[in-house]
This record gives sequence, structure tokens and C-alpha cells, in this order.
Amino acid sequence: MATTSAAQGGRTAEELEFGTARNYVGGEWVEPAGAPLADVLNPAMARPIARVVLSDTAEVDRAIGVAQGAYPSWRATPPVERARYLFRLKELMEASSEELARIITQDHGKTLDDARGEVSRAIENVEVACGIPTLMMGYGLEDGAARAIDEQVIRQPLGVFAAVCPFNFPAMVPFWFWPYAIACGNTYIVKPSEQVPLAMTRIFELIDQIGLPPGVINLVQGARETVEALLDDPRIQGISFVGSSPVAKYVYQRASASGKRVQAQGGAKNFLVVMPDAVPLLDAAVSNILGSAFGAAGQRCLAGSVLLGVGAAHKPALGRITDAARHIKMGYGLDPGVELGPVISGAAKERIVKATDEGQRSGAQLVLDGRGARVEGYEAGFFVGPTIFDGVNPQMQIARDEIFGPVLGVSDVSTLQDAIDRINASPYGNAASIYTQSGKAAREFRYNVVAGNIGVNVGVAAPMAYFPFAGMKGSFYGTLHGQGRDAVEFFTDKKVYIERWL
Ligand code: NAD
Repeated sequence: MATTSAAQGGRTAEELEFGTARNYVGGEWVEPAGAPLADVLNPAMARPIARVVLSDTAEVDRAIGVAQGAYPSWRATPPVERARYLFRLKELMEASSEELARIITQDHGKTLDDARGEVSRAIENVEVACGIPTLMMGYGLEDGAARAIDEQVIRQPLGVFAAVCPFNFPAMVPFWFWPYAIACGNTYIVKPSEQVPLAMTRIFELIDQIGLPPGVINLVQGARETVEALLDDPRIQGISFVGSSPVAKYVYQRASASGKRVQAQGGAKNFLVVMPDAVPLLDAAVSNILGSAFGAAGQRCLAGSVLLGVGAAHKPALGRITDAARHIKMGYGLDPGVELGPVISGAAKERIVKATDEGQRSGAQLVLDGRGARVEGYEAGFFVGPTIFDGVNPQMQIARDEIFGPVLGVSDVSTLQDAIDRINASPYGNAASIYTQSGKAAREFRYNVVAGNIGVNVGVAAPMAYFPFAGMKGSFYGTLHGQGRDAVEFFTDKKVYIERWL
């Protein structure tokens, strides 16, 4: 990434160490003339470390044209050759994985360990997409239509696709989509979150080294205007979106209106259920539950944000979790031993503090208050400490709304059925986990809970790259999910071929 060598906009080179996050279109780095720039902050210090280009409709139009121009010859490149480019990228990403993780921590705020996990999941998606010659195969049947009339189905790419990505996994989320899309023979545009453009910018510097034909994969930085230009352009065949539910729904409706394929993953309110028979296992379960609720400062779409203690499990679970949460080490993610980093922005911190105020007003008991969190040496950072409410009832706003911060609401319920009813009454359906020793309870939970990712004694049920990243109800708009076989379905169309040679 270009390091700024001269003062920019009154700031010194040191203050803007990542320079300007630019577009990569047609195999070239471009900063569109006159494009507005937004500051990119390190949230642990509330300090600008870079700027990002906000691309307008004309720049998106140009990128789509370039991607469309690259499509015919890329489509004609044999799948096995397309996969070889990804093998090269895998090697480069592995060699740069620590650097990428450090960029993510500086840009996003999550701890270095979390960032390392994110990079490895991104690489895992490249590995799976390398199997495209097998994954993309069709199927056929001799005499399938009638005697001596054979029938087969083949998969074909469609053209130009694009991804619109959220801030919370700057490197991983784009990889749920683009490696599969280009491996299938499509060309692509990635639009990262304008809050965290740095990891993908660095990854595109690696992509630049693998020798792909220009225009096959493009990076367009920007915000709302950039997205709308992608949603409306008839040359874009499909949109993959990940972000908050209101925007997911809007993207789904607007992009579908122009006939596109859309997969739009939205927000979440995920439940963790502790059964009475799990109390003896709490030693092991507590750190798992803490990781789910407070890991990445609660800014995961799979974060557990409501804990339902069934019967006798409620009191010990609440006590053990609260005690352990008091000892979580908060700080800058690059510093050793830090377990909880800042949230993404001042606005996010304000929103989380307001939600906590509202929880208190609505009568929930605040047993751990993270609002006044302060980290020595990082006083300006956007820190919120672990926050725990007890006595949360389903009517409260803190029980219904996605807070997307380190806030855990706890309730007691009488039975597993009550817990399942609570989960199913939520408008969201991203993830739910149960802690139990009973296979019967686990099976009942899996069978009846309406949520896409189910964990049994696992707090963050994050699908590996060869499984779909599922989601239901208000957490997902569309049919086919990201990753693995679903991605291959999304990025290809099926053609049936019937032949008679008599
Ligand atoms: P967001 O909805 O604010 O932004 C997501 C993307 O949409 C960004 O690229 C942004 O530039 C763009 N955008 C924002 N507002 C827009 C608008 N009005 N019109 C067009 N484009 C717009 O989400 P975020 O805050 O970046 O990410 C956090 C959210 O993402 C949380 O709700 C989280 O649960 C969700 N998320 C979901 C999943 C999942 O798999 N379901 C995964 C990760 C994050």
C-alpha cells in the first residue's frame, strides 16, 4: 500500500501511514479525478490513518464497462486455468497473512488473534474455490430424454457481479463471494465498507501480482452513491450484499427490481441457551459464551447477544459470566494480551451507550456497565466495556434490536420450549446456540429453531468455507447463500442440453 511521503491535507505522513485507499479497475490503480475522500480512522485512537476514495456513478460505470469487456475471454478460459490464479493468490496471502491481520486490527479495532482468524477464513474460501473444475460440473444422462436422445445440464457464468461489504469483517466477507464468482468465469467488482477499506486494498495489491487478465476483478471504493450505481446498472447480473437488515432489504428490493440475482445478508440478534444439565460444564462453556458475546466487541453477525438460562441454569450462568467478564482485558488489539478492542466509530459507541441507557430505563437490571470504559494510553478510542443486563424481557428494545456492541442481555425461561419460542419470535434468524449434555434437547433445538447457523456447545457457529453462510428471516433476503456450493449456484446458470444424432 502506498505510504504517504508528503503532508496531505494538513496531516503529516506519519498520521496517514496508509495513504489513500484507491480503486483498482482494469488492472490499474486509480484515484478518480475530483472524487471526494473520507477519513479512515484507527478506532483505538480515533485517529485518521488513511483516506478512502468515494466513487461516483461515472466511476462505477467505467468499472462495470471494464469488467464487462474482460468477460468474454475470461469465460472462455478453462476452469482449471482460472483456478490456478487462485492457487497463486493463496500462496501470496499466506505469506502476507500476518501483515494483513495487523492491517485489519489497525483499521477495524479487533484483536490480532481475531484478525488472524479472519484472514485464515478468507484464505479458506480461496482454497475451496480452487476446486471449481469439480464444483462447477454439470450432470448428464444417456438416453435421458428418450432412446438415443441424451440429456445433460451444464453450468455457465453470467457476466459481471458485485459485492457490497460491511465493516465488521473487512477481509473475510468479500471472499464469501468473489473467488467463486471469478472461478466460475464471471468478472467482478468488490465494494468494501468505506469505514475499513485497507485490508482489501492490500489484498488487491497481492491480486495485482497473480497475473489475472485486467478487468476480471476490480475494486471500487465508496459509499451509498457507489452502491446505488451498482444496484441500478443493467450490466450487473447479481449483487451479494452483507450489512445491516434495513439496507439488506433495500438492496434486495432495488437490485431485484432491475432483474438481478440478489443474496443480501442482514443483521442479527443471536440467542445462547443454557440448559440446567450444562451447569456442571460451565467451566468450559463460560469462555465460549464470553467469546460469543464480547469477541470482536460484539461486532459479529454471529455474536450471542441474548442469553436464555433455562430453569436452574439462569443464576449460575449469569454469575459465572459476569465474574469472568469483569476480567476481560480491554485495549488496543495490537498490544499483547488484549481480549477486547474498541468499537468501530464514535457513532457506534454513542449508539451502544444509548441502547444501554434505554435498557436501564425499560427496567432491565444492569449488572455490568461498560459505558464509562477508558483505556490508559488510548483515552480517545471508541471503547465500550462488557455490558450485561439481567431481567431482559422480550418487549424491551434491548431484547429486540441489534445493538452490535459488547452488550449481553440475560433472561430466565422455564423450559426449552420457552427458549425456542423466544428465539422464533425474534425478527432475526442468523444464529442460535444451545449448551447442553442432552442429545435429545440438542436435536429438538436444531429441529425447531428458525435460524440459519445452529451451535451445540459452540458459541459462534461460523460455517467453514465449504458450507453455506446461512441466515433466515430478517437476517437474509434471497435464496442462495455465500460460500461453497451455494456460491457456485449463485454465480452460474444452468442450461439443459438435449441431443439426438440419428
Ligand atoms: P451497513 O448496512 O451500514 O453497510 C453495509 C454496506 O452497505 C457498506 O458497504 C455501506 O457502504 C453500504 N451502505 C450503507 N448504507 C447504505 C444505503 N443506505 N444504501 C446503499 N448502501 C449502503 O452495515 P455495517 O454497519 O457496515 O455492518 C454491520 C452490519 O452487518 C450488522 O448489522 C451485522 O449484523 C451485519 N452483518 C451480517 C452478516 C451476515 O452474514 N448476516 C455478516 C457480517 C455483518
